[in-house]
Amino acid sequence: MPGLRSRPLAEENSWIYLTTFKCQSEHDLKGNTRMNEPKETKSTIEGDNRTSEPQEIKPSIEGLSRRTFLGVGSASLASATLASLAVAVNAQERTDTEKAEQDHSASNPGQENKALLDENPNSNMPPPTDHGDIGPIWYSFDLAHKRVEEGGWTHQVTQRELPPSKDLAGVNMRITRGSFRELHWHTADEWAIMLNGNARVTVLNPDGTIFIDDVSKGDLWFFPAGFPHSIQGLGPGDGCEFLLVFDEGTFSEDNTFLISAWVAHTPPEILTKNSNLDQSAIAKLPTDELYIFPADLPRSLAQDKAAVGGKRVESPIQYTFKMSAMAPTKKTPGGEVRIVDSHNFPVSKSIAVGLVTIKPRGMRELHWHPNASEWQFYLAGKGRMTVFMPPGRARTMDFNANDVGYVPPVAGHYIENTGGTDLVFLEMFKADQYIDFSMNNWIRHLPPEMVISHLNIDEATIKKIPAENQAVLPG
Ligand code: MN
Ligand code: MN
Repeated sequence: MPGLRSRPLAEENSWIYLTTFKCQSEHDLKGNTRMNEPKETKSTIEGDNRTSEPQEIKPSIEGLSRRTFLGVGSASLASATLASLAVAVNAQERTDTEKAEQDHSASNPGQENKALLDENPNSNMPPPTDHGDIGPIWYSFDLAHKRVEEGGWTHQVTQRELPPSKDLAGVNMRITRGSFRELHWHTADEWAIMLNGNARVTVLNPDGTIFIDDVSKGDLWFFPAGFPHSIQGLGPGDGCEFLLVFDEGTFSEDNTFLISAWVAHTPPEILTKNSNLDQSAIAKLPTDELYIFPADLPRSLAQDKAAVGGKRVESPIQYTFKMSAMAPTKKTPGGEVRIVDSHNFPVSKSIAVGLVTIKPRGMRELHWHPNASEWQFYLAGKGRMTVFMPPGRARTMDFNANDVGYVPPVAGHYIENTGGTDLVFLEMFKADQYIDFSMNNWIRHLPPEMVISHLNIDEATIKKIPAENQAVLPG
């Protein structure tokens, strides 16, 4: 259709133009999901339990209830191995939890934070398959202190807010039209995605060439550690908002090297000797940090490039990436994924990303990443994730726009769309490439007898499992 084709790519890719699929209400979707859960996960969970470490089996057997013994015939009990007992115990625990969640056991006569509970039903009343403690996997930018200055604001989710997240830290920043995030540099590499509006960015190379570019919604940039750079909000709207991700869990926006702070802490005679500044110039220098501050809009990009010396000083390295114009790396009936790492954005050597869109009821399939922990940022929609860790631990949390998710290194996980609109989020890694393993792909590339021995399913059932790593499955 010509009408469809004429739609700009940027619009198709944009999470602001979310497709609202006509389907049941969010409430209904959740209800269905929970009802289907035990049936869908049974064989997988038992398979997992059978591979538990031997030292984990002992406490489970001690906890074996009388009811479980009565349920298992004496002959089969005699031949039962430690491993199969552990399976029975864990299955019993799950049955107990299922029952308790339906009766008065789960009632809460005391106080509660209703808003928080409503937002996180899977944490409040976990799926019976959840077990144990894997540490925090959720935080939200909407809980972080917001530093508001004339010209914009910033807030951050770092290792201080989400302690297990040691690899990456995130900063969400807004700068108004014309305003600057001051000239600065820092110890970490900086990756960014423009969330709204427009900005002009600059970064200097050690050889004196300079990169200047304008970025719009969906565009990325990458500035290596120590490279001095700037960000300025542009029109036509009121500046911009973006997400910065640093390859250092303890990174802090409040601890960057600012040009204003450096001149304020350098003896005046040194500034004269170094930069030929006279007394009157030194008297006008800022005496405190600027950080975010208002300024006039810059000239056009072409004029700014010409003003610094044109082609002669133009950076040979490309520091921005037009993700908004990129075709999906993988597209399935369930959604799509765009992957950007050092293969297609060569300067991004330390940070790899997948921008995932999941249609209502769809899910990012059971998978894991062999090379790094995963730091997530949710851009739109509602979803839930369960993270699986040994020995037999699992935690489910709900995620909304502006939330941050965390998956420990190599831990198994899935993300399901639980809302009525597209779920859009970033999977981010401190790595030069995006790599994942799909559980389905693994199962389908093994001899069937091996799968039958482990999961106790027949060959016809195995054949129904998708053979390839599809990333996003339909609901
Ligand atoms: Mn920076
Ligand atoms: Mn993942």
